[in-house]
Amino acid sequence: LIQVVGVKEHDKFRGVYWVSFEDGTERLATINLTPGRRVYGEQLIQWEGKEYRVWNPYRSKLAAAIMNGLKVMPIAEGTRMLYLGAASGTTVSHISDIVGNNGIIYSVEFSPRVFREFMEKLVDQGRKNVIPILADARYPEQYIHIVRTVDIAYIDIAQPFQAKILADNADVYVKNNGYVMLVIKAMSIDVTKEPSETFKREIDVLKDRGYEILETVHLEPYDTAHAMVIGRKIS
Ligand code: SAM
Repeated sequence: LIQVVGVKEHDKFRGVYWVSFEDGTERLATINLTPGRRVYGEQLIQWEGKEYRVWNPYRSKLAAAIMNGLKVMPIAEGTRMLYLGAASGTTVSHISDIVGNNGIIYSVEFSPRVFREFMEKLVDQGRKNVIPILADARYPEQYIHIVRTVDIAYIDIAQPFQAKILADNADVYVKNNGYVMLVIKAMSIDVTKEPSETFKREIDVLKDRGYEILETVHLEPYDTAHAMVIGRKIS
C-alpha cells in the first residue's frame, strides 16, 4: 500500500481535503462522519487523529468537477440541501461529511431497489444529516411535508428535462440567492445532438426560469459527455 505523506484542506472549499501519497499523487477526500464505515468501497485514511474517506472522481461527478477546477462550490459546513437522484449514496455520503451534523441533505430517489441500498449504506450506518425520501423528483409536491427551505438544490437523475425538473424543485424549496447544481448527462437527454448543444439548451432552460448561470465545468476525463452547471436563484 502506498503511504500517505500529508493531508491539507482545499484552498477554497472548507471540508474538502487533498491527501498526498509518497508516490507524488494527490487525491480528494472528506472527513468520515461515521468513522470505520465505508459507503462504496472507498479507501479510509488515518491522519493526525482523523479519519478521511478518499473521494473518487470516477464515481462521483461532484468530485470530478472539483478535480477539473470548479470555482463555485457552495456546499459547506451547515449547508441545507435538496439532492435529486441520490442513487446508492456515493456523492451524498461525501456531501454528508462536508455539511456535518449542522447540515441536512434531503435525498430523493425513486427506484425502490436503489433506495433500499441507500438506506443500508447511509441511514442505517448512522448518518443523521441525511433524510431519505422515496419519491419522483418530477413531482416536488410529493415531499412538501418533509422538505424545508434549502440553500441548494442539486440534480443528477440522468433523465430528460433535468433543468426543468431542477427549476420546478428550486422554485419551491431554494431560498432567494440560493444555488442550483445541475449534472447534465448529454447522451441520455438527446443522443442525436452534440453534447455542447444539449448543454446550451439545458442552460437556457435555467436562464429562462430566472436562474443566473455562474459556472459550467466539463467532467472529462472522469466522466465523458457530462458537465456540472452551477446557478443562482435571483430574488
Ligand atoms: N447522484 C448519484 C451519485 O453521484 O452518487 C448518481 C445518480 S444516478 C446517475 C441517477 C439516479 O437518479 C438513479 O438512481 C435513478 O433511479 C434516479 N432517478 C431517475 N429519475 C428520477 C426521478 N424522476 N426522481 C427521482 N430519482 C430519479
